[in-house]
Amino acid sequence: MISETVHRIRLGITNCYLMGHPRRWVLVDAGCRGRQGTFFRRLKRLGIGPGDIRLIVVTHVHFDHVGSLAAIRERCGCPVAVHAAEAPLLKAGRIVLPPGTGEFSRRLIAFGQRHPPMVASLYRFDPVIPEIIVEHELDLRGYGVEARVLHTPGHTAGSLTVLTASGHAAVGDLAFGCRFFGANRHMPPFADSLETIAGQWRKLGTAGARWIHPGHGCPFAVRRLLKTVARQ
Ligand SMILES: [Zn+2]
Ligand SMILES: [Zn+2]
Repeated sequence: MISETVHRIRLGITNCYLMGHPRRWVLVDAGCRGRQGTFFRRLKRLGIGPGDIRLIVVTHVHFDHVGSLAAIRERCGCPVAVHAAEAPLLKAGRIVLPPGTGEFSRRLIAFGQRHPPMVASLYRFDPVIPEIIVEHELDLRGYGVEARVLHTPGHTAGSLTVLTASGHAAVGDLAFGCRFFGANRHMPPFADSLETIAGQWRKLGTAGARWIHPGHGCPFAVRRLLKTVARQ
């Protein structure tokens, strides 16, 4: 078995990932709004055609992960997969931010609640009708990639992870690869449930993940997450 290649493409503040092989790729997330030009320029440099992308997996419906989704999908002409809990948000072009997990992120949420027009313009994205609704798991071998999509809630109720057979996990915001204003190094600054996140980190370890590719920051070994959980 030839293990899948992973390319990281940063679109605004967010890492998107191409996982797969020449001429058959799955794209994980679509970054911030208006970044499709950056995406297609990078694709060209990698020698990948828009038609080589077989599927786009949305890890969760936050503005920094679906901002350029409509434009990228239109040119690639491929289906979009999202979890059932977040499909209505994607179709409606609507964002719901989870609560802050630290002092700074809680203040940020409170600030946003006091300034709705500013938040509305920041969160804006073009709605997308997804072709594939994931409930628990999705096998990606049908798209030419040895990987599966797992339901990994905690940051949001419908968060997804793409895990390749060789152990590369693109996790969206389930785990961070950088410190966000004093928060725990890997804990997302916003989350529905911290307990659920810790459980999902363990689950990734037992599911065969070796490398974590986060939506923000640099990739790191899964053992770093397991150590963090063990300390708690
Ligand atoms: Zn994010
Ligand atoms: Zn997020």
